[in-house]
Amino acid sequence: RNQIFKLSTGSKKFDKLLYGGIESMAITEVFGEAGCGKTQLSHTLCVTAQMSGPNGYMGGKVIFIDTERTFRTDRLRSIAERFHLDGNTVLENILCARAYTSDHQYDLLKSVTGMLHKEAGVFKLLIVDSIIAHFRVDYYGRKEMAHRQHKLGQLMACLQKISEEYNIAVFITNQITSDLTNLEQGDAQRPVGGNILAHASTCRISLHKDVNERRMAKVYDSPYLASNEVLFTITNGGIDD
Ligand code: ADP
Ligand code: MG
Repeated sequence: RNQIFKLSTGSKKFDKLLYGGIESMAITEVFGEAGCGKTQLSHTLCVTAQMSGPNGYMGGKVIFIDTERTFRTDRLRSIAERFHLDGNTVLENILCARAYTSDHQYDLLKSVTGMLHKEAGVFKLLIVDSIIAHFRVDYYGRKEMAHRQHKLGQLMACLQKISEEYNIAVFITNQITSDLTNLEQGDAQRPVGGNILAHASTCRISLHKDVNERRMAKVYDSPYLASNEVLFTITNGGIDD
């Protein structure tokens, strides 16, 4: 029961980039500009997590912490249909909680931990979309940065513990800085969250807009994965090749 499993992104190429998919007992982070597909990937994972997979993985329930009001049941129904799953059943297996502030986000994770303890083995995927949005609003300017990073560190430690203790795949989305100094250095797509996120995330992927619905996924600074990139698409049925 405590064997590591991998969840499909919906794209074979993207899965290959991750050596099989989003891993349990780890935190996978995706970041990129608005519209690059972070939320669509989150929704696709909500469905693929419920399907059986390699190495005896039987599928399971999902917890979705929504900080930007982007959780959409109609999108989940379309994605479920693509995979020939019953839409109502798929929705019943997703527990969505809205986080209203960064403090509330942390409180929610604490309640989640309690629930996971009681219902061991039921949940396989925990999504936080987005991990950083509230923090960027609640803590503003240089003076509050140390405090923000401290709080963010506590949150990430909590996620790490959840992933390892309950064999869960943790999937978080992050934003990028639009810092002009980075632009000059040719590094405009730097993730927010500094060292705290960099150290806590097991796997970091940057997403980029290409043309139309085509997107690119790129391994970012990983000691585990080869630095590769793949193209994928966003369809009505979620993330695809
Ligand atoms: P973000 O990274 O900001 O979370 P999203 O995951 O919300 O971005 O991606 C939004 C994009 O996904 C839209 O701009 C559109 O290109 C694409 N998209 C959303 N829904 C569909 C759909 N039903 N069919 C095809 N593409 C879609
Ligand atoms: Mg989003």
